Amino acid sequence: EISICWLRRDLRIDDNAALYHALKSNYPVLLLFIFDANILKKLNDRQDARVSFIHQTLEELNEKLKDYNSAIEIKHGTPEEVWADVLNTYQVKAIYANHDYEPYARERDDNLAEYLRSENIGFKTFKDQVIFEKNEITKADGKPYTVFTPYFRQWQQQLNSFYLKPYPVKKYLGNLLKRQYLPIPRLAALGFEPSVLKFPGKNFIGKLAAYEQKRDFPAEDATTRIGLHLRFGTISIRRAVTEALNQKAEKWLSELAWREFYMMILWHFPNIVHQSFKPAYDKIRWINNESDFEKWCSGNTGYALVDAGMRQLNQTGYMHNRVRMVTASFLTKHLLIDWRWGEAYFAEKLLDYEQASNVGGWQWACGSGNDAAPYFRVFNPELQATKFDPENKYINYWVPEIKQQKHVQPIVEHAFARERALRVFKEALQE
Ligand code: FAD
Repeated sequence: EISICWLRRDLRIDDNAALYHALKSNYPVLLLFIFDANILKKLNDRQDARVSFIHQTLEELNEKLKDYNSAIEIKHGTPEEVWADVLNTYQVKAIYANHDYEPYARERDDNLAEYLRSENIGFKTFKDQVIFEKNEITKADGKPYTVFTPYFRQWQQQLNSFYLKPYPVKKYLGNLLKRQYLPIPRLAALGFEPSVLKFPGKNFIGKLAAYEQKRDFPAEDATTRIGLHLRFGTISIRRAVTEALNQKAEKWLSELAWREFYMMILWHFPNIVHQSFKPAYDKIRWINNESDFEKWCSGNTGYALVDAGMRQLNQTGYMHNRVRMVTASFLTKHLLIDWRWGEAYFAEKLLDYEQASNVGGWQWACGSGNDAAPYFRVFNPELQATKFDPENKYINYWVPEIKQQKHVQPIVEHAFARERALRVFKEALQE
C-alpha cells in the first residue's frame, strides 16, 4: 500500500506542499511524473526546449532520490491511460498533487477526482505555486478583482509570514518508497531531441537591488529570468516572495503578484483563453494578413525594436518584457492581427510560457483584457526604442543590418496604422 505524489509543474522536492502532505501520510510515497501525450502531441518542434528542461530537471531529481534509496516513476501516455496502468500496478491509498489553474489541467484533475471517488481512493490537492489563489483575495463583496492595482493592495495587506513558511519536506524524505534506481527514459523515447537553447539559472537574488531602475531597458541584463523556474516549480514562490520582502524590492514583488493576479483571473474566467475578457473586442474586424504575420514572426517588419524582439524570441526562447508589450501592440494595433495569433506564437516559443500570463499579457496589449486604460493607447515602436534603447544597443545586437542601413522598409506606416487601428477599434466598440 502506497501514496503517490503526482508532480506536474512543481518539479522540486524542497518546499513542496503536496509532497509534504504525502510524506506525512502513513504510507510510503512514490513520486510520479507523466509525460502527457495530450500536451506533447500539440508541440510542433521536436527540439521543444520546455520538454528538454522538464527532462533534465527530472534527471536531477532522480539523482537526488538515490540518497533516499528511491527513484521517480516516469510514465508516458494520456493521464487516463497512465492512471489505469498505475492503479493496476500498485495498491494506492491516496494521490497527492498541487493545484493547477489552467482549464486543461482543471478538467484533467476533475476527471481523475471523479474516477478516484468511484474507486474509493483519496485525491488530495494543495495550493503551492502561488501565495494566494482562487477566492483568497477578493473585493469586499466577495467578487474577484479584475483590475490589478486594488488587487495588489489587498494582496499586500493579507500577506504575512504564515503564507511564506517553507514546507519542511526534507526531514520526511525517509518516507519515500524504497525502490531501485532506474534511469529515466531518454528524450528520444518520447519522440523529442535535446534543445540547443540555454536555460537561465536560478540565481535571482543579486538582480533585485537594481531591478526597479533598470528593468525597462532591454539591453540591460536586469531582470531575473526566473519565469521558466516559476513555471515548472524549480523555484518555490514562497522563496521568491521572501527574498523580495527581505530586499524591499517592491516593484519586483508586484511582478510576482501580477503572475498570481492572472492565474486568479484565469481560474475565474477560463473562457479568456479563447475569448476577449471585454466581449466587445471580439467584434473587431481583424485584417489577419498571413504575409504580415509571417514578417512579424520572423522579425522582418522594418521596425527595429519589433524585429529585435521577435529575433530574440526565436533565437533564445526569451523576450524582454518591454519588448513583449511593443511587439504585441504592434501585431494587434499596427497590423490588426487577432491577439490569439500572437498568443499562440508566443506560447510555442517562450521558455517561460505561462498560459495565464501570456493570455493576460496579450489581452492587456490589445486592450481587451484587465486594464483600465482605453484602447487608444497605441505604442509608437520608434519612440519606444528611443526611450528604452537610447544607444541602440539591443537593436544593433539583434538587427545588425541596421548599421549598414540594410534593414527592410517598414511594412506599414506608423501614423496611417495608428489612425486605422483607432477607427477599427472604435467601430467594434460602438456597435
Ligand atoms: P522579472 O521581471 O524578473 O519578474 C519576475 C517574475 O515575475 C517573472 O519571471 C514572472 O513570473 C513574473 N512576472 C513579471 N512580469 C509579469 C507580468 N507582467 N505578468 C505576469 N507575471 C509577471 N510572463 C510569463 O511568465 N509567461 C508568459 O507566457 C508571458 N507572456 C507575456 C506576453 C505578453 C504579450 C506580455 C506583455 C507579457 C508576458 N509575460 C509573460 C510577462 C513578462 O513579460 C514576463 O514574465 C517577464 O518578461 C519574464 O522575465 P523575467 O523572468 O526576467 O521577469
